Amino acid sequence: MTSGGDAPGMNAAIRSVVRTCAYYSIACAGIYRGYEGLIEGDFIELTARSVNNIINKGGTILKSARSKEFRTKEGRQKAYEHLRKNKIDAMVVIGGDGSFTGAVVFNEEFNFPVIGIPGTIDNDIFGTSHTLGYDTALNTAVEAIDKIRDTASSHNRLFFVEVMGRDAGFIALNAGVGAGAEEILIPEEDLGLDRMLESLKKSRRAGKSSSIVVVAEGDKSGKNVYELAEYVEENLPEYEVRVSVLGHMQRGGSPSCFDRVLASRLGVKSVELLLDGQTNLMVGLKNNEVISTSIAEAIKGGHTINMELLRVSDIMTT
Ligand code: ATP
Repeated sequence: MTSGGDAPGMNAAIRSVVRTCAYYSIACAGIYRGYEGLIEGDFIELTARSVNNIINKGGTILKSARSKEFRTKEGRQKAYEHLRKNKIDAMVVIGGDGSFTGAVVFNEEFNFPVIGIPGTIDNDIFGTSHTLGYDTALNTAVEAIDKIRDTASSHNRLFFVEVMGRDAGFIALNAGVGAGAEEILIPEEDLGLDRMLESLKKSRRAGKSSSIVVVAEGDKSGKNVYELAEYVEENLPEYEVRVSVLGHMQRGGSPSCFDRVLASRLGVKSVELLLDGQTNLMVGLKNNEVISTSIAEAIKGGHTINMELLRVSDIMTT
């Protein structure tokens, strides 16, 4: 199943799980709409040929949903009964930490084998250097910022570009460095608004006529992207400021090659772990090796961002 927010690469992961099952002669069913479909018994048998031509498609052919009912014991009991009725022995959940929490609760209650594949553009899951969809979203953000730069430089403007990331600044920090932003504001650290004003003043003095500031949705400045723009206009009237919120476009689109390869590797590993009698694990990537972490640890672990990138960004704005 795919659950929670959709992410590019989910289809490639579905394909990989299904084809690995076919390779080992195991029957495989897809569960529609995450835990909602599980509670309703909305299943479809998937064969190797059911997943033709989806490796390149964004979104998820199994659809995704958020289910309130799965948070209740009654809902989970219904889900379990559908799994038993359909002779399903194990489940691979492709989703974020919420979906993994649901999987752990379900496993504890019914001793039902589960494996998690991290699928979220935010990259905020412990136990993997990359989540499915992150690389694609990052490239989408960089491409969009490149286009905004054309307008910024033609009109000598300052652009605030908001990218996704309520709790994690991976997209903002990496897209900011990759697109050559003047400043990057992230949820992990409050760098202070004075620093931003100073850096904008410095760039004017250095002869730059346009600038881009990349802001993560959940940045720590206490101001949203529109308030930040107003703040700069009030304090640095020489700047003509515009705002662009990239929004859901970052979640869609054809997955990058990196995400397709990652999805293929993680799908194979998830089925092979189950065949090996292992459960309650999340598959992930570490130093380009496929590894597994206990799901409980993955949920609790939190994420760490590479602050060295902020220093690199500072040097690049000289
Ligand atoms: P994203 O990172 O995109 O938000 P996610 O997997 O974290 O993805 P959530 O909406 O947090 O998305 O969780 C998906 C679903 O997992 C929920 O709608 C709910 O059905 C189930 N779930 C989450 N937490 C629990 C819990 N404590 N108990 C049972 N089910 C849960």
